[in-house]
Amino acid sequence: MVEPAWPHPRPPGYNARPLSQECSAVADATPPFDDALPEALRFRSPAPLVDIGANLTHESFARDLEATIQRARAANVSTLILTGTDREHAEQAVALARRYPGLYATAGVHPHDASQWSPSLAAAMGELHRAPEVVAVGECGLDFNRNFSTPAAQERAFEAQLGLAAQSGKPLFLHERDAGRRMREMLHAWRDDIPDAVIHCFTADRETLYGYRDLDLHIGLTGWLCDERRGHHLRELVGEIPLERLMVETDCPYLLPRNLPAKLKGRRHEPALLPWIVREIAHWRSVDEVDLARGTTATARAFFRLPTDPTPPDTEHEES
Ligand SMILES: [Zn+2]
Repeated sequence: MVEPAWPHPRPPGYNARPLSQECSAVADATPPFDDALPEALRFRSPAPLVDIGANLTHESFARDLEATIQRARAANVSTLILTGTDREHAEQAVALARRYPGLYATAGVHPHDASQWSPSLAAAMGELHRAPEVVAVGECGLDFNRNFSTPAAQERAFEAQLGLAAQSGKPLFLHERDAGRRMREMLHAWRDDIPDAVIHCFTADRETLYGYRDLDLHIGLTGWLCDERRGHHLRELVGEIPLERLMVETDCPYLLPRNLPAKLKGRRHEPALLPWIVREIAHWRSVDEVDLARGTTATARAFFRLPTDPTPPDTEHEES
């Protein structure tokens, strides 16, 4: 299969590098992106949205980061939670959150990089979690789909980060792939000590979903269900996630929705396209897009304990 089954497939056009290294790769592989989105992809959400998973420190955004943030605002995606998947990228995410209003960061070590876990890394992460811009511990968790780090190393790093979450009092931003049972076991032991946790980019089955619901976890949905080849089971499940536990994310630059109404040069996903995903989820839940937008935003604001939205609804014509 050309298309990887992992929730972070590499967009075509990127150089082939091991996925575990993709975040630390230098920006020498930038595909030819459009400067503006094609007309048919200039969405505007009927209510402000929170993209809870945007990898804006990815090399592919280095060239047009400001424009990417502007396009998100024009689409009414007013708040972006930047995913920090290792120390370097978490520090970059914090720096961006300090620079741009409406941006926040997470700080964790991805299961792919779990073999790097060490006492000094744990100390650095603990320090990052004290920053007010860091609103969650993660991305961390378990990925037994590829085992870039051994399962034992993943469990060790995850266990340590569960401890850091308990210490910091901040919620967890979790990655799980083919490890639902072990994830539930480990979370169960810590559940009373951590305030909240979201399974980002949920793609698993009904049994796993209800296991997570039993633990009172939140669920993050991406454009996975926009894929007619592999999103079918999710389309049937989205109605079974309570609105007060549901949040939305692009997981950009990965997971470009497959059913967009126009082609995008470079095939890089970005926050401005989140309204399309919300529309799709609303369709499969048989609810209004505006209600879903409002509901997921209220859930995200409460989950990450965000202040009242500081961003004007439309900054398209703002002078810089
Ligand atoms: Zn992930």
